[in-house]
Amino acid sequence: MLIVTKFGGTSVGDADAIKRAASIITDLAKDSRVIVVVSAMAGVSDSLLDMVSGEKKDPAEIDSFIKSLGNKHLEAVDQSEIPDASNVTEKINKLLDNLRKDLEHLYSGSSETHEKYTILGYGEKLSATILTAVINARRPASCHFGDDNLIITDNYFRDASPIMPETEPAIRGTLIPVLENDVIPVITGYIGTTRDGRTTTLGRGSSDYIASVIGAVLDADEIQIWTDVDGVLTADPGIVPDARLLDRISYMEANELAYYGAKVLHPNTISPAVMKNIPIRIKNSTNPDSPGTLITDKVEVTPALPTAITSKKDVILIDVNSAAMVDAFGYLSRIFDVFRKFNVSVDMVSTTEISVSVTIDKFYSGKLEPVIEELGKIARVRVMKDKALICVIGEGLESAAGLTGRVFSAMGEMGVNIYCISMGALEMNVSFVVDLEVADDVIRTLHEMFFSKSD
Ligand code: ADP
Ligand code: MG
Repeated sequence: MLIVTKFGGTSVGDADAIKRAASIITDLAKDSRVIVVVSAMAGVSDSLLDMVSGEKKDPAEIDSFIKSLGNKHLEAVDQSEIPDASNVTEKINKLLDNLRKDLEHLYSGSSETHEKYTILGYGEKLSATILTAVINARRPASCHFGDDNLIITDNYFRDASPIMPETEPAIRGTLIPVLENDVIPVITGYIGTTRDGRTTTLGRGSSDYIASVIGAVLDADEIQIWTDVDGVLTADPGIVPDARLLDRISYMEANELAYYGAKVLHPNTISPAVMKNIPIRIKNSTNPDSPGTLITDKVEVTPALPTAITSKKDVILIDVNSAAMVDAFGYLSRIFDVFRKFNVSVDMVSTTEISVSVTIDKFYSGKLEPVIEELGKIARVRVMKDKALICVIGEGLESAAGLTGRVFSAMGEMGVNIYCISMGALEMNVSFVVDLEVADDVIRTLHEMFFSKSD
């Protein structure tokens, strides 16, 4: 058995969490080979991002930043019951020294833009160093960290994508010998490396994706995402506190969920696993006895009931409208060419005879102006901000003739304005756009309607 595990920020958030993670890993290692992908301690990536972004840079901030980052990690080392802690402390201090130098270089104004991504990668290196030491304290010389350059990416430094023909041999060549020596490799999440050795990040939350890529390359038996909730729930527990645990969902459902806002999984996590048909299990590191959620190819569906409800907040709705559309062949492709030209990814599309409505993530708002200008050459364009995309997801929706009716009459009763509606061809997903300010209420109402226990 080979299991690729991933521990998120809260699952290594302090000494107690790190000890729990180490116990989970050493338990698994009793009868499986284990690979560990680890995120930065909770809050660290945000603080690093804060240090590298923004306009004015005050070098005086570096000192206090390094001090507090050092305290956080050294305290975790102190409280982790590592017998020979001085060795780990030394490694942490070395990383902090390097980070300080990199920050000073950045703040001096003479660095190249890509250098800030090197800085963003320190959080994972720090947490991986501590976790490795704690595992080794329990199973001497059984764990190893330091295999860099496994995920070879393109040069989109912030949201880099792995180049698989190069990533595959890197992963195999590095990790197979380690595993054959019965050693647990600990790998940094979030970051990758360009062909010429510069650090990239694969986007926020991408440690899940890295675990899945490694699992797929090595034909793992299972990919385990350890996080701070029991598994995938019927809705975001921050919005619906009594959301229910889903014990099994399909790859397709998980993919839709992740793509449409369920933060528990990075949107790219599913596709590498699907290709090799590797099950993904979501588990709670603070409650390992809970069975979690198993994501596989096929699941039994509950007819006429959705699996989950998600929302993508802060989307921008663009309505492109022209009478010319009726007979203009290729009109749609002209519209989508514009989005492609400016690398703006479209989430949802809905069309009528004369109009095309799309939603895009607020992430792209900075790129919007040229898109609108170009679209304006083809048709009338209306841009509506502060919207949310609500998605009702489930394999069972196909047979749910009355479901959409129930959804939209509930919206009518709430007096909620619906801007556009889309149903996937696979009928896995009914999604619609509402005002951002009512999104949470809409989710709670739909959740109550479909999942309340008293029905
Ligand atoms: P990690 O740091 O372990 O990667 P994340 O914060 O990225 O954890 O993801 C877990 C969080 O996702 C949960 O704490 C929960 O608040 C949020 N979440 C949003 N939607 C869902 C959902 N449908 N099911 C479970 N968790 C969800
Ligand atoms: Mg995450």
